[in-house]
Amino acid sequence: MVKTRFAPSPTGYLHIGGARTCLFSWLYARKCKGTFILRIEDTDRVRSKKEYLDEILESLSWLGIDWDEIFYQSQRFQVYRDFAAQLIQQGNAYESEGAIFFRYDFKTIEVNDLIRGKITFTELAKEEEVIIKSDGSPTYNFSCVIDDASMHITHVIRGEDHISNTPKQMLMYQALGFDIPQFVHLPLILSEEGGRMSKRFGATSLREYRAQGFVPEAVVNYLMLLGWSPGEDREIMSLDQAKELFEIKDINKTASAFSLTKLNWMNSEYIKKMPLDKLAPLVKDFLKQNNMFPHNVTDQYWLQVVNLFKERIPTLSDLIERAYFCFYDDFQYAPEAQATLVTKRPGEVAMLKERLKGLPDFNKEDIEKEFRATASDLGLKTRDLVHPVRCGLTGQKVGPGLFETMEVLGKERVISRLDRLVRYWEKEGS
Ligand code: GLU
Repeated sequence: MVKTRFAPSPTGYLHIGGARTCLFSWLYARKCKGTFILRIEDTDRVRSKKEYLDEILESLSWLGIDWDEIFYQSQRFQVYRDFAAQLIQQGNAYESEGAIFFRYDFKTIEVNDLIRGKITFTELAKEEEVIIKSDGSPTYNFSCVIDDASMHITHVIRGEDHISNTPKQMLMYQALGFDIPQFVHLPLILSEEGGRMSKRFGATSLREYRAQGFVPEAVVNYLMLLGWSPGEDREIMSLDQAKELFEIKDINKTASAFSLTKLNWMNSEYIKKMPLDKLAPLVKDFLKQNNMFPHNVTDQYWLQVVNLFKERIPTLSDLIERAYFCFYDDFQYAPEAQATLVTKRPGEVAMLKERLKGLPDFNKEDIEKEFRATASDLGLKTRDLVHPVRCGLTGQKVGPGLFETMEVLGKERVISRLDRLVRYWEKEGS
């Protein structure tokens, strides 16, 4: 039976690369109806922090990844020491100054990797390796082998940065007479510019993306495409769909580049498709957590505003910036929007205002009819009024459909903002 694991060290927040590794490992276990375990590699007592551990577990749950079992290496020190004692007894290890060293003969080692095939190592830098440090804690290579073997991991799926550790680990498997698992080293994730993904290139931890208002379904969908594709250019996929389709043979051999543009696109696709009764509370909670939710907003008005913007927001945090005018009157006309006010039409806008005021029902269809009729009666094209009116009502040059926006704002706000626009022109002209 297939058994895979993700083995994070809680010495930092969950990195995009770690999340992708975990996802692939999880997808494979689920695809094979196998077992997926989390193994917390918290052997470094100084650098491991509860705060990081909590965040890693929370971020994985947020992505929709679950685990069948969880182990903590910090609770297994005796197991490692016992195996180290066995190696000493066999003559494969020795103790010196409180540390235990594993000794091996140099020989050619072949690692069979399911992505890149056979990898041959003809030389290792040293001929011995510390396995238990003088403080009693195991080193990564040793505890990893002991655990992968004793937990019966069938497929060790991890980042390519661990390739150089694998031959040393193979020597330990051999010395202890353990079965060797299948190895799967995932290609790196590069930044858009091509280098390693580092802080310099923007957010690298999952929590930063959460904080920016990406939704989990989009992030997990984006992560699965970083190095894997089910073919046929299929891109939008849920976890449930991916776990039916996932195959190790479809993982790319080459590194993939992280594209924020694509993640933004993916996120906006998920936001667009989300039912309003799910999206509206989600954005509300998100804004509340960030102390950005406007005061005195009714549920009804909130639904209307979210509905107005859902087709055009890349992330949840974009909403409040773009919808500012829906909640506050004190917005300025943005410089690029002011360009639409160069031709002054105070009389025309005043007339439009009067005619809109007379509408018994302020819905977008009636607003549009009246708007077009007014423009035509004035001998203007509709767009001659649309652009300046949009600036007057929203302060922006672009935005959601103007008539829908007017309906959401409501008659009172529309009238007072058209008044403000007329005054702006009059003041400017004087
Ligand atoms: N704790 C190691 C890491 O975070 C695990 C590597 C492995 O999967 O073997 O890189």
